Amino acid sequence: MPKYIFVVGGVMSGVGKGITTSSIGKILQSRGFKITAIKIDPYINVDAGTMNPTEHGEVFVLKDGYETDQDMGNYERFLDIDLPNDNYMTTGRVYLRVIERERNLEYQGKCVEVVPHIPLEVIDRIKKAQQKAQADITLIEIGGTIGEYQNVLFLEAARMMKVKHPHDVLFVLVSYLPIPQKVGEMKTKPTQYAARTLQSAGIQADFIIGRSDRPIDKKRKEKIAMFCNVDEKDVISAPDIESIYEVPLNFEKDHLSDRIIEKLGLVSGKADIKEWESFVTRLKNAKQKVKIGIAGKYFSTGDFVLSDSYISIIEAVKHAGALWGLKPEIVWINAEKYEKDPKSLEEIQDLDGLIVPGGFGSRGVEGKIMAISYARTKKIPFLGICYGMQMAVVEYARNVLGLKDAHTTEIDAKTQYPVIDILPEQKKHLSDKNFGGTMRLGSYKAKILSKTLAKAYYKKDLIVERHRHRYEVNPSFINRLEKSGMIFSGTSLDRRLMEIVELSSKEHPYFIASQFHPELQSRPLGGHPLFNGLLEASKKRSTSRKDIL
Ligand code: GLN
Repeated sequence: MPKYIFVVGGVMSGVGKGITTSSIGKILQSRGFKITAIKIDPYINVDAGTMNPTEHGEVFVLKDGYETDQDMGNYERFLDIDLPNDNYMTTGRVYLRVIERERNLEYQGKCVEVVPHIPLEVIDRIKKAQQKAQADITLIEIGGTIGEYQNVLFLEAARMMKVKHPHDVLFVLVSYLPIPQKVGEMKTKPTQYAARTLQSAGIQADFIIGRSDRPIDKKRKEKIAMFCNVDEKDVISAPDIESIYEVPLNFEKDHLSDRIIEKLGLVSGKADIKEWESFVTRLKNAKQKVKIGIAGKYFSTGDFVLSDSYISIIEAVKHAGALWGLKPEIVWINAEKYEKDPKSLEEIQDLDGLIVPGGFGSRGVEGKIMAISYARTKKIPFLGICYGMQMAVVEYARNVLGLKDAHTTEIDAKTQYPVIDILPEQKKHLSDKNFGGTMRLGSYKAKILSKTLAKAYYKKDLIVERHRHRYEVNPSFINRLEKSGMIFSGTSLDRRLMEIVELSSKEHPYFIASQFHPELQSRPLGGHPLFNGLLEASKKRSTSRKDIL
């Protein structure tokens, strides 16, 4: 019988349910079980593609092209698996399906009601994802916080599953234990309320993971155990730590996998988590600092900086850093300011590498082009991603080919030199205002040209990478770009679509950009070729700068 573990959050959002879910998956995987993970988002949006990244964080594109939540990226990275779209659902998607089924008379004339039909649809989806993955243990993270109205129907689905399969379903409550500065003591009451609110939905937590600045002491573990109805051994301490990748190892200090295995009545051998441990050790022992700038625009929310919009890029930088023994420092660059104050471009000189990530629309675009121009001419290692690649082509066309005001038609529909233009199959979607899930999405194959940077780092001729775009390099400019030195080192199999551009290594230490999103496939053990290349070049730059100093 397959087993299910639901992960829910108490007290407040942002306590790390995604990392907790991924880490529980990791420790169970290390015990030899086949794991899959599902994310439930309570939004009405059918997928995450139509949400602004500053609202919801990065849009993580799955292999099959589905646009989902960043937590899916965490699951893939921790578990080293590719997940299908069956593993992601939103309120919108569930309702849409129930309504479709009702219209198709699939309920045989019954009155279709919120309860039980919505929870039943949710259960159906969970079971389908389990079957597809042939998983021994399926983790299901329910988004939102206990006590809010939005996730009630998902909790109801979880409760119904527990009633049906009492020995195969567990609940993990991830809670927060504040230490108010003035009081100076860790407080358990909010967690007690969260556990009680969960009980009022008919669910008893089996485990309580207590997130806090510091480890939970014995006294507070006893208190939580007593007032939340759990065994003291099942109160797991999850203090803030340096790296998210250490969380699985930390859980094992409290013997979490043993406890879960025991409760689910499973048997397993000893954990095999050596490789992961040595990755964490490499991360922690890395000494040499490199400064990697990310020139984006989706970071400010009110007075705060939100790095969630670029989470996969940040993680990919860390993975590649670990490979070369580096401690990367991310520097957020608001490219818009270069437009008003071109002198401030000088700050790029202080970087060891520059990333211009994906994006949409006109805000900050000229600043990004200026930043790319600086990196190209001053020989600063550069990686452009999607929009970043398109802007690298625009910059090259303007400043090397001399095509004044060359642009993408996304910004300037009437430009005389549309070096980046809409993909033919995308034209209709735009004119119909059909924006949801209609871009060129998901995995496509590409051919790699030999004797290029791309070939040197991929070490193969055929790659598969994930996409999310409507525009492409305009085929009618390729000849001219090539003649003036731009190398198209990766193309679609029919050679129509340019997937990777680069400059010769004789001209620049590392200048490469891809139409796809390499960050989506970077994994902790080994990193991604394009990021590995960037970090290696950044290491060289940082070493040579130190030599000069
Ligand atoms: N806006 C560009 C396009 O649609 C780039 C998209 C992206 O960077 N993800 O092609």
